[in-house]
Amino acid sequence: MTAPINRIINYSAVNGPGTRSVLIFQGCNFRCLYCHVPDTLGNCNGCGVCAYHCPVGALRPDAPGIIPQWLEEKCIDCGACINACRKDSSPRIRRMSIKDVLDHIMEHRRHIRGITCSGGECTLYAEFMIDLFPVIRRQGLSCLIETNGTLDFEKYRELLDCCDGVMLDIKAADPLRHMELTGRGNEEVFHSAQVLARMGKLTEVRTVVTMADFGARETVEKTARILRPYLRKNDILYRLIPFRVYGVRREYRNLGTPSRKVLEELRDLALSAGFTKALIS
Ligand code: SF4
Ligand code: SF4
Repeated sequence: MTAPINRIINYSAVNGPGTRSVLIFQGCNFRCLYCHVPDTLGNCNGCGVCAYHCPVGALRPDAPGIIPQWLEEKCIDCGACINACRKDSSPRIRRMSIKDVLDHIMEHRRHIRGITCSGGECTLYAEFMIDLFPVIRRQGLSCLIETNGTLDFEKYRELLDCCDGVMLDIKAADPLRHMELTGRGNEEVFHSAQVLARMGKLTEVRTVVTMADFGARETVEKTARILRPYLRKNDILYRLIPFRVYGVRREYRNLGTPSRKVLEELRDLALSAGFTKALIS
């Protein structure tokens, strides 16, 4: 079995506790306006356009419909291919097997506490993770998931059994605002929040806060209401993430970063609504 991996960040301190290697899976079923890794959203159709924009000939076009061959040793990491792509994809994606991932992770084994599967939306590759996690855990490493919550986790208990925790993005409480922000409704997201909390796997919820009003107060309140029975018992963290312009597509860069005061009010709201831990980062 293989999965398309956009890249692996060898060392990250912001994708779960401790230093972790992060697998960025390719493809997402949301289209969040503020996505800071938009080259992970789509799937390459092999148009070959990127190859003509590469300044150093690191992309070799193959047949139409086939992703260009990426000559990694020539690549200067300029990003021109990603800017040229109209499919929100990248020609540098690699299809990796469980062994490929394990071999890569083992090169960094001594310096990490575990891995985090992210994206894109990593749960589009739930079967891959079900095979991967036991292999990684046998090395004494923990396995976490970052997700938009669209997977029906009740049907994937096997995945939860072999993962150490799930960090869930909750983008907006209001279904229309959620649709405007992501292109999809939020019913399954709140359902996942409850399922994950009930199974003791929800470690963290996250909301990106923008100046553009997507109802952050309402989102914090609704999330706390839905998770109330589990908040103390499971010690779930609420992370409020200020919008950052870095990586965001040009047309959405004006969503605006909220003031520290706004973020602190939301953090205090989360704490007063029952979360035992809330932070801004
Ligand atoms: S990465 Fe984008 S531009 Fe390059 S071949 Fe694939 S779809 Fe075309
Ligand atoms: S990032 Fe690498 S492959 Fe892409 S255009 Fe630049 S040199 Fe070429």
